[in-house]
Amino acid sequence: MHITLGKDNIRFNYLNIFFILLVICAWGMSCTETPPGIVKNVDEFNMAIQNATPGDVITLANGEWEDAEIKFDARGSEAEWIRVKAETPGQVVFTGQSYLAFSGEYIEISGLVFKDGYTPTSEVISFKTSKTSLANHCRVTNCVIDNYSNPERFDSDYWVGMYGKNNQFDHNSLIGKSNVGVTMAVRLPTEASRENGHIIEYNYFGPRGVLGSNGGETLRIGTSHYSRTYSNTIVRNNYFDRVNGEHEIVSNKSCGNLFEGNVFFECQGTLTMRHGHHTTVQNNYFLGNGKPNTGGIRIINEYQTVKNNYLYGLTGHRFRGALVIMNGVPNSPINRYNQVVDSKMENNLVINSDYIQLCAGSDEERSATPVGTTFKNNLILGETNLQPFTIYDDVSGIEFAGNVMNESAEAPFDQGFQKVPLQLSKNEHGLIVPSEELLDQIGFGSVKLPVSKEEVGASFYPKDGGERSFDTGELIKVAAGEDALIQAIESSNPGDVLELENGGTYLMTKYAFVHHPITITSPAGEKAVILSEKQSFFKIENGGALQLMNLLFDGAESPDYAGNNVISTSKYSMNQNYALVVKDCEVKDLDKNHSFDFLKSYKHTFADSIIIDQSQFTNVTGAVMTLDMETEDLGVYNVENIKIQNSTFSDVQHEVVNVYRGGTDESTFGPMVLIENVSISNSGKGKRNQSGAVLRFHGVQRLTVNQVNISDSKGIDLYMTNGEPITSLSNIQFVNSAGLNTNNEPFEQQNIQNLSK
Ligand code: CA
Repeated sequence: MHITLGKDNIRFNYLNIFFILLVICAWGMSCTETPPGIVKNVDEFNMAIQNATPGDVITLANGEWEDAEIKFDARGSEAEWIRVKAETPGQVVFTGQSYLAFSGEYIEISGLVFKDGYTPTSEVISFKTSKTSLANHCRVTNCVIDNYSNPERFDSDYWVGMYGKNNQFDHNSLIGKSNVGVTMAVRLPTEASRENGHIIEYNYFGPRGVLGSNGGETLRIGTSHYSRTYSNTIVRNNYFDRVNGEHEIVSNKSCGNLFEGNVFFECQGTLTMRHGHHTTVQNNYFLGNGKPNTGGIRIINEYQTVKNNYLYGLTGHRFRGALVIMNGVPNSPINRYNQVVDSKMENNLVINSDYIQLCAGSDEERSATPVGTTFKNNLILGETNLQPFTIYDDVSGIEFAGNVMNESAEAPFDQGFQKVPLQLSKNEHGLIVPSEELLDQIGFGSVKLPVSKEEVGASFYPKDGGERSFDTGELIKVAAGEDALIQAIESSNPGDVLELENGGTYLMTKYAFVHHPITITSPAGEKAVILSEKQSFFKIENGGALQLMNLLFDGAESPDYAGNNVISTSKYSMNQNYALVVKDCEVKDLDKNHSFDFLKSYKHTFADSIIIDQSQFTNVTGAVMTLDMETEDLGVYNVENIKIQNSTFSDVQHEVVNVYRGGTDESTFGPMVLIENVSISNSGKGKRNQSGAVLRFHGVQRLTVNQVNISDSKGIDLYMTNGEPITSLSNIQFVNSAGLNTNNEPFEQQNIQNLSK
């Protein structure tokens, strides 16, 4: 028997069933159906939002929302907002290729989490649905974006793009962006987004690793194109926690903004007033705590005000000093450096901070010195650097008055600086302060963080990330045997220590993939021996880091192919930085075929640090480390810190170290390289060594080579690029070797000898 029902009939029947279920639920019976008003997927959401009227609340059901593309336009009213919220804040989790874009008015979005994926568009949360459909009077609050980073390190996106006017972004947590692109951008492409009055407050900007390139800013307001227009954005009471992407933590590129009451905790970089005028930076706290490259505030442009900021333990130099006033370019193009005009740097409290830079960046192009500017009533106290001021050019356009320094430090002038005995103590809020009298003298007020870590960010989300380190897991003993080490690595947890037997032999017949920090060691005494039948012993994958101690690596079982290595990074882009430590190790006979490297890095991978200490390398047909894979000269590079100490290298056919950072970009700190107490013999002479050097440093920003003996080898190739690299070579002895080859930029040198036997 056939019954033909029209579509309408079917829908009617389903509706009936749904209605009956609703009634059952309403009667209070045990019911697992979704209550009304809760949407379970994108289709249901779209249906609900299309019909939403002022005052409606749309609740997203708890659970994972995978590949959810939420894009909508809606209109609440000033009295009755439309609210889009999580059923339980923190339990609606967007994963995969999800994003949220919205436009309209009086919409509040809250309680959402984005993690385990990345946006398929160019923004994770966007305050627009098209170039002309923008959000106004909207709010995003209590949301999280946690490492929702594109796996391609140099595929650019933003996490938050703010457009329109009068929007608020508050109590959100943005943690761990690891691909290129600003974490949060206020954008001003059209009139409809300018003079916007946005408020960005009580957010937690969580740890962001060093990017090793421009494009790692945490917050940017405007771009150079629209920098002479007003944004009028307020950024207050946010907490920036170890955001180290690049040297601009905040890149202010528009007029009329206010930065007030923010905390910058151990951030490498500065709040940079890069473009635009009439911006105020006040009552912010910069806590460097002596960490490397921590910076303060940099003034460029006109009518800027920097006052009542607290700056402690900042070590950054040059553009990343505690306080910096730049030189400009006469009649600057919009994307270069406007002269500093009529700006104020006043009433700031600078403690144990190393550098204050005036007329910074002075060169042939940047020749316009500051005018009409004041440097007044700043307290500059401390002993970490007794000559904190560097003056690069004519400062007659800056008025100095009422500043205070400790007697032991050197003031740039007698006039405008008072000297006092150094007296610092910790106050009841745990901050280092001078005497009450001095604070009163400049009217600083009480010294207290304007906002605590507890008061910011999404209420439900932890703020303890950022450190992945060695030796934080369990100690696991691994008996010698074929593939015993492979099995131990596969079943290890982050931070575990794998302890091998003294003198034990550990042959690996498979690749050892390293996905998290692992330490491999053997106890003091005879080293454990590691061999591999594969082209790499270890492959450091995204998230991996490796510490090797008291081990012997032998190439005897490696395959007879060209291009083997002991350690390689992933061949694919890694958006997490890795680390490598090699201590008390011996590496020998990496000589199966040619070009057998110790460490082979690939493009778009980045090491936070590589350390070699107390180790011996002999008979290597490739290089000890190749970190020269970013060849486009865009200021991109492969490693932040290299330290090689107390080690010997002999019969290495390619380079011992090859570091390359090309281009003229000025937005990074690294690479930084230290080579000390090292001896190199009979090395660099292989016919496939393309650099022709045994140590090659191109574009290294901070280089120290000390107590190095190079015999019967190729030489050092030193190419210094822009950015005033700090280069120091001392106590280097070349014996029967090629010596030093430089591009003739000046650098510090002492006791470099060329001898022949
Ligand atoms: Ca930048």
